[in-house]
Amino acid sequence: MKISERLEKIPPYLFAEIDRKIAEAKAKGIDIISLGIGDPDTPTLAPVVAEMHKAIDNPKNHDYPPYNGTEKFRKAACDWMKKRFDVELNPDTEMLANIGSKEAIAHIFFAFVDKGDYTLVPDPGYPVYKNATIFAGGTPYSMPLLEENGYLPDFDKIPEDIAKKSKLMFLNYPNNPTGAVADLDFYKKAVDFCKKYDILLCSDMAYSEMTFDGYKAPSVLQVEGGKDVAIEFYSHSKSYNMTGWRVGFVCGNAGAVKALGTIKNNIDSGTFKAIQDAAAAAFTVDQSLIDSLNKMYQDRRDAAESGFRELGWDIKPSKATFYLWLPVPKGMTSEEFVTQMLEKAHVVVPPGNGYGSCGEGYFRVALTKDVDTIKECIRRMKDAGIRYN
Ligand SMILES: *Cc1c(COP(=O)(O)O)cnc(C)c1O
Repeated sequence: MKISERLEKIPPYLFAEIDRKIAEAKAKGIDIISLGIGDPDTPTLAPVVAEMHKAIDNPKNHDYPPYNGTEKFRKAACDWMKKRFDVELNPDTEMLANIGSKEAIAHIFFAFVDKGDYTLVPDPGYPVYKNATIFAGGTPYSMPLLEENGYLPDFDKIPEDIAKKSKLMFLNYPNNPTGAVADLDFYKKAVDFCKKYDILLCSDMAYSEMTFDGYKAPSVLQVEGGKDVAIEFYSHSKSYNMTGWRVGFVCGNAGAVKALGTIKNNIDSGTFKAIQDAAAAAFTVDQSLIDSLNKMYQDRRDAAESGFRELGWDIKPSKATFYLWLPVPKGMTSEEFVTQMLEKAHVVVPPGNGYGSCGEGYFRVALTKDVDTIKECIRRMKDAGIRYN
């Protein structure tokens, strides 16, 4: 049996060697701390769990859901978009439930990309953008996210012939892995660029609610005419600690929502209706619950940033996401640095090049451990003599 060419084209799994070393260390009984995984370590917000208890007992929730999501969920999502961003959306034509964003992000490429088409994807970036392009038969073009540009892509650097052949662009702010944020001026530039070249602008808002120090992330749909070219992907995973529940939504341009709906209608049958009821309840949880989650991450961020500063890193407070994106010490590769972290400090951090070649020279820290554990990691680095300079 031979696997498909499209599967063979997927780049090798960059964490394989590190996973092997972690398994080896664990087998030797070494106590490893992982700051690797972007998965919340605290429970789903209580009102959501409470709603699920009720929803699961309702027999009306036990059959196939409507292909585009329950009316209750779609309306609640539209109300949330109105309250959060003052963006008006039609729940029947501009809103679609998903089974977690990853699914919808992967499927949008099948709705817009044919053989020979290009997509514009951020580098470093969430690996799905690139790999789903390849699955759909297209060619990903990397838009470098550079520190000197605040990790925003420079649209002027995209060659005209590539722009003309591109069908779809992905943006992701607040950003994984860099923690960078974008403002409305940037989104306006993105909308103008995508209008000029007739490109679908896809904005991944997985971290829209995970922001600090009073900062609120804007939506590309707030830009005048944004809906003409853009759709957004929202997820309950990080906002309400619901990674295992598999639910979120896609909204914006009606043509793109319809196209994605047609792909999904032929592949999946939606999220369990009880989960959609619980997810609808998430939209109306008291803001104080989200604020206190963010306060928890902010305290961890402060502990991590001050620890790294003591070790010679020069960093400004990050505004969003539970990630820190830091340069490796001069003269080292990402791979060498994370190997040293694992072998000498027994701390796992992913190498930046795992998110694209522009991530080389960096590593990511996930703030998914409590303050004491983060401080322990810093102590271990100090004891092992690991410093930036
Ligand atoms: C976590 C994450 C997602 C989506 O996660 P789901 O659980 O599939 O909703 C999407 N994009 C980025 C950048 C993420 O980090």
